[in-house]
Amino acid sequence: MATNNPQTLKIVSLILKVVGALPLLIGLGLLAGAWFTGNRQNTILKTWPTVDAEVARSELTSHQHQFDNDASSTTVYEAHIDFGYTVGGKQYTTPSGSGYFTSDYAEMKQKVDTYAPGTRHPIRYNPANPNDIRFDAGYTFGFFLGPLILAVVGLMLAGTGAALFFTGWAIGRAKALCPSCGQKFRHTEPSCPNCGAALSPGGAAR
Ligand SMILES: [Zn+2]
Repeated sequence: MATNNPQTLKIVSLILKVVGALPLLIGLGLLAGAWFTGNRQNTILKTWPTVDAEVARSELTSHQHQFDNDASSTTVYEAHIDFGYTVGGKQYTTPSGSGYFTSDYAEMKQKVDTYAPGTRHPIRYNPANPNDIRFDAGYTFGFFLGPLILAVVGLMLAGTGAALFFTGWAIGRAKALCPSCGQKFRHTEPSCPNCGAALSPGGAAR
């Protein structure tokens, strides 16, 4: 810090704490969200039963999508796959979208080809609601992509916020040695609480 003026240090300390607190709190919120959604995916893998399903329909659709910072629209692709399966003697046919769309045609085409009509695949279903299915469940990057993004953004925000907040906190706590009486006191104090020597703008007590 260029100045040792107690009033300036007090304000700088306060500003850093306020400016750091917001990204710190948002970051912690995102980390909590990452834990919650990651835990949910893990619960699916641990508790949802697997059933052998047959693909009834597999279609690749496309539409125009305008990405946030792009003036023109892009063609994006999405997979629509219907699965037929039996749970508790009851027949179900459930559509399961790819869950996301991408401008990468080859990626979606491969998905649709892998899940061609008539092919059989193990899928997982929610025991409380057999119409709730996951066909891509596994300890894979894709299945945990959502929680991973939340965790990375949360860590960056919380880290930046924490660095600002604790810098402000440390400035407020930093202590000077009084040259008059040798007592330590905070930089943000206008004068030595022990002997009353005031800090000059240059920083040294007089
Ligand atoms: Zn003193």
